[in-house]
Amino acid sequence: SSSCATCGNVAQEELCNICRDTRRDPSVICVVEEPKDVVAIERTREFRGRYHVLGGAISPIEGVGPDDLRIRELLARLADGTVTELILATDPNLEGEATATYLARMIKPMGLKVTRLASGLPVGGDLEYADEVTLGRAFEGRRLLDV
Ligand SMILES: [Zn+2]
Repeated sequence: SSSCATCGNVAQEELCNICRDTRRDPSVICVVEEPKDVVAIERTREFRGRYHVLGGAISPIEGVGPDDLRIRELLARLADGTVTELILATDPNLEGEATATYLARMIKPMGLKVTRLASGLPVGGDLEYADEVTLGRAFEGRRLLDV
């Protein structure tokens, strides 16, 4: 399968099902590392906005820098002012936190509300391994990110 031209999620056509769904709120984007994180968050039924799949996380040890992720594509989506909140739902581990901090520092000056999922997710793990109740609560309890 290929990936969505807008968000990077798995897609059968040019755009994925979520980007094509006009009932989804275009003012909120949830940023995740991998398409499987989209699946995990969709299971919670807590989120009605759109997604952006980065394709990984910043990891100096593995040689993954910001330019290796779909950050330029994300910034392009923020350019027209439709998006007012960005939820950083990268994994609760070192690389995920580093990526969230990097994005928040870059995006906050643009005047957007930048939030991070509440703690309570298994630290050091992958978002996809959190059960849907825990993940749903983390979504509800998301907080403004101070950077
Ligand atoms: Zn999409």
